[in-house]
Amino acid sequence: MACKNLFFVGVFALGFVATDLAQAQDYVPGEVIVKLRESSGSEQAFAFLGKAMTDRQMQLEGAFGRIDLYHFKLGKGQSVQQAIAELSQDPAVEYAEPNYILRKSSQTGIENSFSLEEIGQRLSSGEDLFATSAPVDFYESWSAPSAQSSSRPIVAVIDTGLDLSHSVFAHNNVVWRNPGEIPDNGIDDDGNGYIDDVYGWNFVNNSGHMFDDDGHGTHVSGIVLSVAHDIFSGESFDSKIQIMPLKFLDGNGMGTTGNAIKAIYYAVNQGAQVLNNSWGGPNYSAALHEAISFSYSKGVSFVAAAGNAGSSNDQAPMYPASYNVPHVMSVAATTNSDFLASFSNYGFNSVHLGSPGTSILSTVPGDKFGNSSGTSMAAPFVAGVAALMKRESPLMEGFQIKSIINEESDPISFLSGKVFSESRLNFANPIVRAKSEALVDSPVYSSGVPTRQLASTTGGCGTVSTMYMDRHHQSGRGGGMGAGRGSGLGYVILVLALMALPLVVAVALRARAKADSPESRRRHERFKFDSEVKVNVGGRELVGSVSSISLGGVQINTEAMLEQGGIVSMSISSPDGKEQIQVEGRVVWSEAKKAYGVAFEQAPDSALSQIRSWTKA
Ligand code: CA
Repeated sequence: MACKNLFFVGVFALGFVATDLAQAQDYVPGEVIVKLRESSGSEQAFAFLGKAMTDRQMQLEGAFGRIDLYHFKLGKGQSVQQAIAELSQDPAVEYAEPNYILRKSSQTGIENSFSLEEIGQRLSSGEDLFATSAPVDFYESWSAPSAQSSSRPIVAVIDTGLDLSHSVFAHNNVVWRNPGEIPDNGIDDDGNGYIDDVYGWNFVNNSGHMFDDDGHGTHVSGIVLSVAHDIFSGESFDSKIQIMPLKFLDGNGMGTTGNAIKAIYYAVNQGAQVLNNSWGGPNYSAALHEAISFSYSKGVSFVAAAGNAGSSNDQAPMYPASYNVPHVMSVAATTNSDFLASFSNYGFNSVHLGSPGTSILSTVPGDKFGNSSGTSMAAPFVAGVAALMKRESPLMEGFQIKSIINEESDPISFLSGKVFSESRLNFANPIVRAKSEALVDSPVYSSGVPTRQLASTTGGCGTVSTMYMDRHHQSGRGGGMGAGRGSGLGYVILVLALMALPLVVAVALRARAKADSPESRRRHERFKFDSEVKVNVGGRELVGSVSSISLGGVQINTEAMLEQGGIVSMSISSPDGKEQIQVEGRVVWSEAKKAYGVAFEQAPDSALSQIRSWTKA
């Protein structure tokens, strides 16, 4: 854990004292993320999951569909380090890693609190509210010649959430709306695994209820939008871009790798074309690397804050900014005098460009405006420009957008040797160029993800020296550095959404079945079944039908909503309706609004033998 130790030495040397335990940990206690070598449907995967749940008492928290990635809670008393060491020895396991903690990349909290009226008064009295953040010439991008495109690219702001009631966002048609979802009906109308995800998703409390209990996400979203429109005028506009708020950072600006990964897959699968990531951490995660590689394969732009440690990412990487995927844009913060901000991370080989990031004025919750500093504020300017480029050229991919932004940025002497382009974002030229530029192919890339050693808790440090820039090695290392998962894009294309995949479902059911069955080493055969089931959930009795059954669980159909992970007690009837068994179960998956997989929890032997006799026929 050399990197981690270095990091903490640094923190304490500066005189900070961790205020609570959570601050002192860089991963979630008692949780691991495991990638299997074999596909989710295979016998080896079944065997591993069964063993994990029975022998190791691990609890399945989430399954990342067809990328064979699983998020577990460990059994009581198991340490993450120990579990990873042991799991890494399992031949079925490609890698196991902690669920690392990530933090927002703002240097300051929100300063000042102006109402729209106050902003107006100050502007009309000649005060230059943007003086502190000049040269934020986003006015240039407003007047950049436009193709009059009607496309409204979606920018996913993966952050602390968004104050949807802020007048800038509540009007102006700014916030993305999921076209397939009917609000507040308690149903996953579009079958994407998220119920009532009308305006994005809150991965912190796992709901469609969007708010911003920190302020960071609202500020960042306002910056993205300010590239396209004057958000300070109070005048209404028809937004050229859409903001998709995805909340994975909590009220303290902290989140987990597991939720960041879910947010990235959500964003890409729901059609976001630009992903803004004003957050990070010092730990390399192979699973996050894979998620970002997936986003690359879909042609999106991925913008990341370089970090605020005032240090070189060439020496001490900051993730996700330092993932060397060809579309990742790592953004440093510049001051109003075009200096590199004192807090900003830099790195000639790992940070791409500068962008204004000190005392930036933007939206804050409560229908106000305020200032904040950080690479968190620098990244969304780049995301805004990328979105307007997408608007001009909807098929242009993230790799080309990054190349153009780098090439069109303005050379700044203070950035010489500090960032790859040695330049600061130009707000207009990339948009003009996108309008007429011929499309180029993105290079093939494989995340080359990780040998088991690389992915262990100590592995992140080892990747420091292998980071490089794609302009130097465009076709070099990308395909060749890894454990050989086969051709990169082909593999990545196999990657699909989270949860709600029947394949995973079957795995979860079967694994759980093993855990609960006396015949725990054998797979349970599943039988088509047609009978009635009464489900008792928290005192409510619901009636549904059983469509299949095994010794491990049932698939039931009901119009009522069952909560995933919830415990239910069931009275299952035989097909002729003459016999019933009573059994407890856990809802392990749901699908298409009304089909649920329920895994038995400690089913009594009498019930199991009853199922055997029913299914013999
Ligand atoms: Ca949904």
